[in-house]
Amino acid sequence: MARRPLVAGNWKMYKTAGEGAILVQNLEERVSGSWDQVEVAVCPPFTALKSVSTLIELDRLQISLGAQNVYWEEEGAFTGEVSPRMLAELRCDYVIVGHSERREFFGETNETVNKKVKAVFSEGMLPIVCVGESLATRDAEETDTFVREQVRGALEGIEADQATKLVVAYEPIWAIGTGRTPTPEGANDVCRSIRATVGAMFGPPAAMSLRILYGGSVKPENAKSFFGEPDIDGALVGGASLDADSFAEIVKAAV
Ligand code: PEP
Repeated sequence: MARRPLVAGNWKMYKTAGEGAILVQNLEERVSGSWDQVEVAVCPPFTALKSVSTLIELDRLQISLGAQNVYWEEEGAFTGEVSPRMLAELRCDYVIVGHSERREFFGETNETVNKKVKAVFSEGMLPIVCVGESLATRDAEETDTFVREQVRGALEGIEADQATKLVVAYEPIWAIGTGRTPTPEGANDVCRSIRATVGAMFGPPAAMSLRILYGGSVKPENAKSFFGEPDIDGALVGGASLDADSFAEIVKAAV
C-alpha cells in the first residue's frame, strides 16, 4: 500500500468512559511499535471521547481519535446533537459520517451526509465517509451504481484539496456484524470504483491520496487478505475493535 494505512475502530454504543480508557491503554501496549507504518484510530461513543482524549494527550499516545457522528450546525436549539466545534475541542481527528446504522435507524441521507462532511472539514477534522450496499442491491447487481451515487452525494461541493485528505469506508451492509465478507478481490473492485469516482470529481491527486478502508466483519484471521489489495488502505472495524488483542492483531496485519 503506497498510502499510509489507517485502521479505525468503531466502538458503536459500547464502552463507558472508564471502560474506553482501559481499552485504549491495553491497545497502546500491544501496538506501540507500529506507528510509523500504520495509523490507528479509535472512535468511542460521545460520552467516552473526553476520557480517551485526555489519556491520549497525557500519555502522548500516537492513537488518533474519532467520533461516530456529528450535526452540521455550529450551535443552536438542536436537542441531543453535538457540533463539529465541540468535537474539535476534544481533539478529534476524525468523524465517522453516514454509517449504515445511522442511515438505517436515524434517517441519514446522502444530503445530510454531505452537510456533515462539509461541517467536519470546516473544523479541521477529517470525515470517514461510509458507503455500502444492501444485500438486495448486491443481488440486483447494482452495487457499483449505488455506491458511486453515495460517493457523489456525500462529496458534492467539497474542495479538491479536502478530497485528497478524505477517508471513505466501503462497508457492504450485509457484511457488518454478520461474519460474512466479500472476497478481497470483490471488495477491491468496489474500492477501485470509489477511487475512480473521486478522481472524476476532483482529479488524479485526490484519487491517488484518498484512503479507502474496507469494513464489514474484519477479524484477525481475514484482515491481511484485505490489506493486500491495491485499492484498500486499511479497515474500519466494529466488533473486533472492542477487544485489545483482536484489534491489535488487525493493526499488525496492516504493517
Ligand atoms: C462497522 O460497524 O463499521 C463494522 C464494520 O462492524 P463489524 O466489524 O462488526 O462488521
